[in-house]
Amino acid sequence: MDDSAYGVRNKRGHWRPKDPIQPAPLFLQPWNLVRIVKWLPRYFVPWNVLLFLAATAFWFLLTPDIETMRTMEWGWMLYILVRNSVAVFLFYGALELRLYIRRSQGTLFKYNPKWPDDRRSEYFMFSSQSIDNMIRTFGTGVPIWTAYEILILWAYANGWGAWTTLADNPVWLILLGLLILVIHEFHFYTTHRMIHIPVLYKYVHSVHHKAVNPSPWSSLSMHPIEHLIYFSGSLIHLIVPSHPLIALYHLHVAGFGAVVGHVGFDKIVAGKESAMDTHSFAHYLHHKYFEVNYSDGLIPLDKLFGTWHDGTEKGDELMNARMKKRRHSATLED
Ligand SMILES: [Zn+2]
Ligand SMILES: [Zn+2]
Repeated sequence: MDDSAYGVRNKRGHWRPKDPIQPAPLFLQPWNLVRIVKWLPRYFVPWNVLLFLAATAFWFLLTPDIETMRTMEWGWMLYILVRNSVAVFLFYGALELRLYIRRSQGTLFKYNPKWPDDRRSEYFMFSSQSIDNMIRTFGTGVPIWTAYEILILWAYANGWGAWTTLADNPVWLILLGLLILVIHEFHFYTTHRMIHIPVLYKYVHSVHHKAVNPSPWSSLSMHPIEHLIYFSGSLIHLIVPSHPLIALYHLHVAGFGAVVGHVGFDKIVAGKESAMDTHSFAHYLHHKYFEVNYSDGLIPLDKLFGTWHDGTEKGDELMNARMKKRRHSATLED
Protein backbone atom coordinates (compact mmCIF):
# COMPACT_ATOMS: atom_id res chain seq x y z
CA MET A 1 0.00 0.00 0.00
CA ASP A 2 1.12 3.52 -0.72
CA ASP A 3 0.29 6.13 1.94
CA SER A 4 0.89 9.00 -0.49
CA ALA A 5 -2.40 8.09 -2.16
CA TYR A 6 -4.18 8.88 1.12
CA GLY A 7 -2.17 11.74 2.57
CA VAL A 8 0.87 13.97 2.40
CA ARG A 9 4.21 13.94 4.21
CA ASN A 10 5.87 17.27 4.97
CA LYS A 11 9.60 18.03 4.79
CA ARG A 12 10.13 16.81 8.35
CA GLY A 13 8.47 13.52 7.49
CA HIS A 14 5.19 14.09 9.35
CA TRP A 15 2.24 12.49 7.57
CA ARG A 16 -1.33 13.77 7.52
CA PRO A 17 -4.44 12.49 5.74
CA LYS A 18 -5.50 14.38 2.60
CA ASP A 19 -9.10 14.69 3.65
CA PRO A 20 -10.16 16.79 6.64
CA ILE A 21 -11.38 14.83 9.67
CA GLN A 22 -15.14 15.10 9.96
CA PRO A 23 -17.36 14.57 13.02
CA ALA A 24 -20.05 11.93 12.52
CA PRO A 25 -22.55 13.25 9.91
CA LEU A 26 -25.32 12.15 12.26
CA PHE A 27 -24.48 15.18 14.40
CA LEU A 28 -23.92 17.66 11.58
CA GLN A 29 -26.70 19.93 10.40
CA PRO A 30 -28.34 19.89 7.90
CA TRP A 31 -28.80 16.12 7.89
CA ASN A 32 -27.61 14.44 4.74
CA LEU A 33 -29.08 10.95 4.55
CA VAL A 34 -26.59 9.66 1.95
CA ARG A 35 -23.64 10.83 4.05
CA ILE A 36 -25.12 9.26 7.19
CA VAL A 37 -25.73 5.91 5.48
CA LYS A 38 -22.17 5.92 4.06
CA TRP A 39 -20.71 6.70 7.50
CA LEU A 40 -22.78 4.19 9.53
CA PRO A 41 -20.60 1.10 8.83
CA ARG A 42 -17.54 3.05 10.03
CA TYR A 43 -19.28 3.60 13.37
CA PHE A 44 -19.42 -0.16 13.89
CA VAL A 45 -16.62 -1.76 11.89
CA PRO A 46 -14.16 -2.87 13.02
CA TRP A 47 -13.54 -1.41 16.49
CA ASN A 48 -17.04 -1.07 17.91
CA VAL A 49 -18.01 -4.59 16.81
CA LEU A 50 -14.75 -6.04 18.17
CA LEU A 51 -15.22 -4.31 21.52
CA PHE A 52 -18.80 -5.54 21.79
CA LEU A 53 -17.80 -9.11 20.91
CA ALA A 54 -15.02 -8.98 23.51
CA ALA A 55 -17.46 -7.72 26.16
CA THR A 56 -19.91 -10.50 25.25
CA ALA A 57 -17.19 -13.15 25.59
CA PHE A 58 -16.07 -11.63 28.91
CA TRP A 59 -19.64 -11.60 30.25
CA PHE A 60 -20.60 -15.14 29.22
CA LEU A 61 -17.27 -16.91 29.59
CA LEU A 62 -14.98 -14.94 31.86
CA THR A 63 -17.19 -13.45 34.59
CA PRO A 64 -17.89 -15.28 37.87
CA ASP A 65 -21.48 -16.34 38.61
CA ILE A 66 -23.90 -14.02 40.34
CA GLU A 67 -23.80 -15.94 43.67
CA THR A 68 -20.03 -15.51 43.91
CA MET A 69 -20.17 -11.79 43.15
CA ARG A 70 -22.74 -11.08 45.87
CA THR A 71 -20.02 -10.62 48.45
CA MET A 72 -16.79 -8.67 48.02
CA GLU A 73 -14.23 -11.45 48.37
CA TRP A 74 -10.61 -11.30 47.24
CA GLY A 75 -10.77 -14.48 45.12
CA TRP A 76 -13.09 -13.30 42.36
CA MET A 77 -11.97 -9.69 42.58
CA LEU A 78 -8.32 -10.66 42.01
CA TYR A 79 -9.42 -12.95 39.20
CA ILE A 80 -11.08 -9.97 37.42
CA LEU A 81 -7.90 -7.92 37.88
CA VAL A 82 -5.73 -10.70 36.43
CA ARG A 83 -8.10 -11.35 33.50
CA ASN A 84 -8.21 -7.62 32.62
CA SER A 85 -4.43 -7.27 32.97
CA VAL A 86 -3.80 -10.29 30.73
CA ALA A 87 -6.29 -9.00 28.14
CA VAL A 88 -4.69 -5.53 28.08
CA PHE A 89 -1.22 -7.08 27.86
CA LEU A 90 -2.30 -9.20 24.89
CA PHE A 91 -4.29 -6.52 23.02
CA TYR A 92 -2.04 -3.49 23.59
CA GLY A 93 1.02 -5.74 23.39
CA ALA A 94 -0.02 -7.17 20.01
CA LEU A 95 -0.28 -3.66 18.52
CA GLU A 96 2.99 -2.58 20.15
CA LEU A 97 4.77 -5.72 18.90
CA ARG A 98 3.50 -5.42 15.36
CA LEU A 99 3.78 -1.67 14.86
CA TYR A 100 6.55 -0.51 17.22
CA ILE A 101 8.83 -3.47 17.98
CA ARG A 102 8.77 -5.40 14.69
CA ARG A 103 7.83 -2.20 12.83
CA SER A 104 6.12 -4.44 10.30
CA GLN A 105 4.72 -1.58 8.23
CA GLY A 106 7.63 0.81 8.86
CA THR A 107 6.41 4.40 8.89
CA LEU A 108 3.63 3.71 6.40
CA PHE A 109 0.62 5.78 7.60
CA LYS A 110 2.60 6.81 10.71
CA TYR A 111 1.88 10.43 11.66
CA ASN A 112 5.21 11.09 13.36
CA PRO A 113 8.24 9.57 11.60
CA LYS A 114 10.11 9.16 14.91
CA TRP A 115 9.88 6.15 17.22
CA PRO A 116 9.32 7.05 20.88
CA ASP A 117 11.78 4.50 22.24
CA ASP A 118 14.61 5.47 19.89
CA ARG A 119 15.19 8.44 22.15
CA ARG A 120 15.84 7.93 25.84
CA SER A 121 14.42 10.71 27.96
CA GLU A 122 14.84 11.48 31.64
CA TYR A 123 11.26 12.67 31.47
CA PHE A 124 10.08 9.05 31.70
CA MET A 125 10.63 6.37 34.36
CA PHE A 126 13.67 4.28 33.35
CA SER A 127 14.18 6.86 30.55
CA SER A 128 11.77 4.93 28.35
CA GLN A 129 8.32 6.07 27.21
CA SER A 130 7.10 2.48 26.81
CA ILE A 131 8.32 1.23 30.20
CA ASP A 132 6.98 4.35 31.96
CA ASN A 133 3.62 4.04 30.21
CA MET A 134 3.35 0.30 30.94
CA ILE A 135 4.05 0.88 34.65
CA ARG A 136 1.24 3.44 34.80
CA THR A 137 -1.12 1.19 32.80
CA PHE A 138 -0.67 -1.85 35.03
CA GLY A 139 0.13 0.04 38.22
CA THR A 140 -3.05 2.10 38.46
CA GLY A 141 -4.88 2.06 35.08
CA VAL A 142 -6.09 -1.53 34.98
CA PRO A 143 -6.63 -1.74 38.80
CA ILE A 144 -8.88 1.37 38.79
CA TRP A 145 -10.78 0.15 35.70
CA THR A 146 -11.19 -3.21 37.51
CA ALA A 147 -12.39 -1.48 40.70
CA TYR A 148 -15.23 0.15 38.75
CA GLU A 149 -16.06 -3.18 37.14
CA ILE A 150 -16.13 -4.96 40.50
CA LEU A 151 -18.37 -2.26 41.99
CA ILE A 152 -20.82 -2.55 39.08
CA LEU A 153 -20.88 -6.38 39.11
CA TRP A 154 -21.28 -6.45 42.91
CA ALA A 155 -24.18 -3.97 42.71
CA TYR A 156 -25.77 -6.08 39.96
CA ALA A 157 -25.40 -9.30 41.95
CA ASN A 158 -27.14 -7.63 44.89
CA GLY A 159 -29.90 -6.08 42.77
CA TRP A 160 -28.76 -2.51 43.47
CA GLY A 161 -29.47 -0.26 40.50
CA ALA A 162 -32.13 -0.31 37.80
CA TRP A 163 -30.97 -3.54 36.12
CA THR A 164 -33.18 -4.92 33.39
CA THR A 165 -33.11 -7.65 30.72
CA LEU A 166 -33.33 -7.77 26.94
CA ALA A 167 -36.66 -9.59 27.25
CA ASP A 168 -38.16 -6.86 29.46
CA ASN A 169 -36.70 -3.76 27.81
CA PRO A 170 -35.41 -4.63 24.32
CA VAL A 171 -35.76 -1.20 22.68
CA TRP A 172 -34.11 0.71 25.55
CA LEU A 173 -31.21 -1.73 25.95
CA ILE A 174 -30.45 -1.82 22.21
CA LEU A 175 -30.58 2.00 22.08
CA LEU A 176 -28.31 2.26 25.13
CA GLY A 177 -25.89 -0.22 23.57
CA LEU A 178 -25.82 1.73 20.30
CA LEU A 179 -25.19 5.00 22.12
CA ILE A 180 -22.34 3.86 24.38
CA LEU A 181 -19.69 5.41 22.11
CA VAL A 182 -21.58 8.72 22.15
CA ILE A 183 -22.04 8.62 25.95
CA HIS A 184 -18.35 7.77 26.40
CA GLU A 185 -17.30 10.60 24.09
CA PHE A 186 -19.51 13.14 25.86
CA HIS A 187 -18.12 12.10 29.27
CA PHE A 188 -14.57 12.09 27.88
CA TYR A 189 -14.93 15.57 26.39
CA THR A 190 -16.38 17.21 29.51
CA THR A 191 -13.96 15.60 31.98
CA HIS A 192 -11.01 16.08 29.63
CA ARG A 193 -11.83 19.75 29.26
CA MET A 194 -11.97 19.98 33.07
CA ILE A 195 -8.52 18.45 33.60
CA HIS A 196 -7.05 21.01 31.21
CA ILE A 197 -7.80 23.68 33.85
CA PRO A 198 -4.21 24.83 34.66
CA VAL A 199 -3.99 23.53 38.23
CA LEU A 200 -5.47 20.11 37.34
CA TYR A 201 -3.34 19.97 34.21
CA LYS A 202 -0.18 20.65 36.20
CA TYR A 203 -0.74 18.00 38.87
CA VAL A 204 -2.86 15.42 37.05
CA HIS A 205 -3.27 15.51 33.28
CA SER A 206 0.32 16.50 32.39
CA VAL A 207 1.25 12.87 33.10
CA HIS A 208 -0.82 11.70 30.11
CA HIS A 209 0.58 14.49 27.94
CA LYS A 210 4.19 13.44 28.51
CA ALA A 211 3.69 11.36 25.37
CA VAL A 212 3.78 13.96 22.59
CA ASN A 213 4.33 11.14 20.11
CA PRO A 214 1.94 8.53 21.59
CA SER A 215 2.18 4.79 21.10
CA PRO A 216 -0.18 1.98 22.27
CA TRP A 217 1.10 1.97 25.88
CA SER A 218 0.38 5.72 26.16
CA SER A 219 -3.38 5.04 26.06
CA LEU A 220 -3.86 4.41 29.78
CA SER A 221 -0.70 6.15 30.92
CA MET A 222 -2.36 8.60 33.29
CA HIS A 223 -2.20 9.94 36.83
CA PRO A 224 -4.40 7.77 39.14
CA ILE A 225 -6.80 10.70 39.62
CA GLU A 226 -7.27 10.84 35.86
CA HIS A 227 -7.90 7.08 35.82
CA LEU A 228 -10.59 7.61 38.48
CA ILE A 229 -12.21 10.34 36.39
CA TYR A 230 -11.75 8.59 33.05
CA PHE A 231 -13.47 5.33 34.03
CA SER A 232 -16.22 7.04 36.08
CA GLY A 233 -18.46 7.25 33.00
CA SER A 234 -19.31 3.59 33.63
CA LEU A 235 -21.22 4.58 36.79
CA ILE A 236 -24.12 5.63 34.54
CA HIS A 237 -25.11 1.93 34.62
CA LEU A 238 -25.91 2.23 38.31
CA ILE A 239 -28.36 5.04 37.52
CA VAL A 240 -30.18 4.28 34.26
CA PRO A 241 -31.83 0.92 33.46
CA SER A 242 -29.02 -1.22 32.10
CA HIS A 243 -27.56 -4.70 31.77
CA PRO A 244 -24.10 -5.74 33.04
CA LEU A 245 -23.06 -6.80 29.53
CA ILE A 246 -23.57 -3.20 28.36
CA ALA A 247 -21.68 -1.91 31.40
CA LEU A 248 -18.78 -4.24 30.53
CA TYR A 249 -18.90 -3.06 26.92
CA HIS A 250 -18.78 0.57 28.16
CA LEU A 251 -15.67 -0.23 30.24
CA HIS A 252 -14.12 -1.97 27.24
CA VAL A 253 -14.78 1.09 25.05
CA ALA A 254 -12.91 3.19 27.63
CA GLY A 255 -10.20 0.63 28.43
CA PHE A 256 -9.43 -1.30 25.24
CA GLY A 257 -10.88 1.41 22.97
CA ALA A 258 -8.34 3.97 24.24
CA VAL A 259 -5.57 2.23 22.36
CA VAL A 260 -7.21 3.01 19.03
CA GLY A 261 -6.73 6.75 19.62
CA HIS A 262 -3.06 6.40 20.61
CA VAL A 263 -1.81 3.95 18.04
CA GLY A 264 0.06 6.67 16.10
CA PHE A 265 -0.86 5.27 12.67
CA ASP A 266 -3.79 6.32 10.49
CA LYS A 267 -4.21 2.80 9.14
CA ILE A 268 -3.06 -0.61 10.26
CA VAL A 269 -2.05 -2.42 7.12
CA ALA A 270 -3.55 -5.90 7.08
CA GLY A 271 -2.68 -7.15 3.61
CA LYS A 272 -1.34 -6.01 0.26
CA GLU A 273 -4.34 -3.82 -0.47
CA SER A 274 -6.28 -3.78 2.78
CA ALA A 275 -5.96 -1.74 5.94
CA MET A 276 -7.98 -0.86 9.03
CA ASP A 277 -8.74 2.79 9.76
CA THR A 278 -7.84 3.83 13.28
CA HIS A 279 -9.64 7.23 13.35
CA SER A 280 -6.86 8.37 15.67
CA PHE A 281 -5.70 11.56 13.96
CA ALA A 282 -7.94 13.88 16.01
CA HIS A 283 -6.50 12.65 19.33
CA TYR A 284 -2.97 12.49 17.88
CA LEU A 285 -3.32 16.22 17.15
CA HIS A 286 -4.42 16.76 20.75
CA HIS A 287 -1.17 15.14 21.97
CA LYS A 288 0.81 17.19 19.49
CA TYR A 289 -0.78 20.60 20.04
CA PHE A 290 -2.47 20.23 23.51
CA GLU A 291 -5.16 22.90 23.01
CA VAL A 292 -7.20 21.31 20.21
CA ASN A 293 -9.55 18.31 19.91
CA TYR A 294 -10.55 17.60 23.50
CA SER A 295 -12.99 15.04 22.07
CA ASP A 296 -12.14 12.28 19.63
CA GLY A 297 -14.20 13.99 16.95
CA LEU A 298 -17.30 11.81 16.94
CA ILE A 299 -19.61 14.50 18.37
CA PRO A 300 -18.80 18.03 17.10
CA LEU A 301 -18.23 19.47 20.60
CA ASP A 302 -14.84 20.93 19.69
CA LYS A 303 -16.41 22.51 16.62
CA LEU A 304 -19.07 24.05 18.83
CA PHE A 305 -16.57 25.48 21.32
CA GLY A 306 -13.98 26.60 18.76
CA THR A 307 -11.21 24.08 19.51
CA TRP A 308 -11.61 21.81 16.50
CA HIS A 309 -8.59 20.96 14.34
CA ASP A 310 -9.59 19.03 11.23
CA GLY A 311 -6.02 17.96 10.44
CA THR A 312 -5.56 20.22 7.41
CA GLU A 313 -3.24 23.20 6.86
CA LYS A 314 -6.35 25.38 7.23
CA GLY A 315 -6.78 23.77 10.68
CA ASP A 316 -3.17 24.76 11.54
CA GLU A 317 -3.88 28.34 10.47
CA LEU A 318 -7.06 28.57 12.56
CA MET A 319 -5.24 27.11 15.58
CA ASN A 320 -2.31 29.52 15.21
CA ALA A 321 -4.69 32.49 14.90
CA ARG A 322 -6.48 31.34 18.07
CA MET A 323 -3.21 31.01 19.98
CA LYS A 324 -2.08 34.43 18.80
CA LYS A 325 -5.34 35.96 19.97
CA ARG A 326 -4.96 34.25 23.36
CA ARG A 327 -1.40 35.46 23.77
CA HIS A 328 -2.51 38.95 22.78
CA SER A 329 -5.31 39.06 25.38
CA ALA A 330 -2.95 37.58 28.01
CA THR A 331 -0.47 40.42 27.30
CA LEU A 332 -3.25 42.98 27.60
CA GLU A 333 -4.29 41.49 30.97
CA ASP A 334 -0.68 41.81 32.21
ZN1 LIG B 1 -4.42 10.67 24.92
ZN1 LIG C 1 -5.43 16.48 27.19
